[in-house]
Amino acid sequence: MSRLRELLRPDLRGKTAYGAPQLEVAVRLNTNENSYPVPDDVVRDITAAVAEVAPHLNRYPDREFTELRTALADYLTSTSGVVVTPEQVWAGNGSNEVLQHLLQAFGGPGRTALGFTPAYSMHPIISETVGTRWVDGRRGIGADAPFDLTVESAVEQVREHRPHVVFLCSPNNPTGTALSLELVRAVHDAAPDAIVVVDEAYEEFAREGVPSALTLLEGRERLVVTRTMSKAFAFAGGRLGYLAAVPALTDMLRLVRLPYHLSSPTQAIALAALRHAPEMLSTVAVIKQQRDRIVDGLRELGLEPVPSDANFVFFGGLPDSAVAWQALLDRGVLVRDVGIAHYLRVTAGTPAETDAFLAAMAEVVPTLR
Ligand code: PMP
Repeated sequence: MSRLRELLRPDLRGKTAYGAPQLEVAVRLNTNENSYPVPDDVVRDITAAVAEVAPHLNRYPDREFTELRTALADYLTSTSGVVVTPEQVWAGNGSNEVLQHLLQAFGGPGRTALGFTPAYSMHPIISETVGTRWVDGRRGIGADAPFDLTVESAVEQVREHRPHVVFLCSPNNPTGTALSLELVRAVHDAAPDAIVVVDEAYEEFAREGVPSALTLLEGRERLVVTRTMSKAFAFAGGRLGYLAAVPALTDMLRLVRLPYHLSSPTQAIALAALRHAPEMLSTVAVIKQQRDRIVDGLRELGLEPVPSDANFVFFGGLPDSAVAWQALLDRGVLVRDVGIAHYLRVTAGTPAETDAFLAAMAEVVPTLR
């Protein structure tokens, strides 16, 4: 028998790799991507940007990705109204890598990370792969709001576990609802020894009146806000995630990143896309409309959608989520079963995708009872 199994780190043995099924299906609404392709004029600029760096691929890229940091800082400043400087920005190959950098720097063996689940399933996985002990915090304030988190409960759990890293996912994946700034502030104040990470991967889709935690950065050196170009920005394949924090914190992340982690093509294409920010974000309004249509449509079918600030809807009321998932797939619609009984998650995309999803749901629901 192969000795490999014994050679693998004991804490990794028996684990399964993260990943949604990658199936060739007509309507793919399972990974919260943006359904709209990159517009033609942006494609032209991206192609030109790659052509410009191609002759210089014999050289390493700018290790400090200075131009990209500046463009990301400008993007955050212009969309949030909070002045963010390039020194406050850090980036990686997707926000997953940025989260990994944070955990490598502030978590690790002998340290603890706390998140309030269900939340983004990579938070515990990244924590544990760098040797950080993960604590599953609780959500839920009764049957009517099983996924809500109160300020009192969050503060109590943070005081109980005294974590080194706290994850707040807002808007929360998979449930969709954003957290209040009051909660972020209270958790930060209740955890004096922790880095507080607000994962805002879906922030651009938030409903009116849900401000970003970027507005809390000033005066809070332990607060970090992570973002991504994968969702609203329609750039998941470009793999570019980033964060904003105090310059001293971003400087510390240089201790753990691999040198030249952002390739020159990655930097060039992200910069080209950022030059077209308003155009790249122009789909956000229609996606929010589709999300709200999905919420209304599911309610009309007698299901229980959770209020969403994201580009997806988590909905309950299903007698058996695995059966419903398969019935939708049989009709050419792929959604996500995140392993929570009676619930599924569906991404909001184009109007045609909403039509297809709701039509399939209308067929499926009567067969479930
Ligand atoms: N945070 C959350 C909450 C997410 O849902 C995702 C992607 N599903 C990510 C981070 C990571 O995205 P990426 O690595 O593409 O930036």
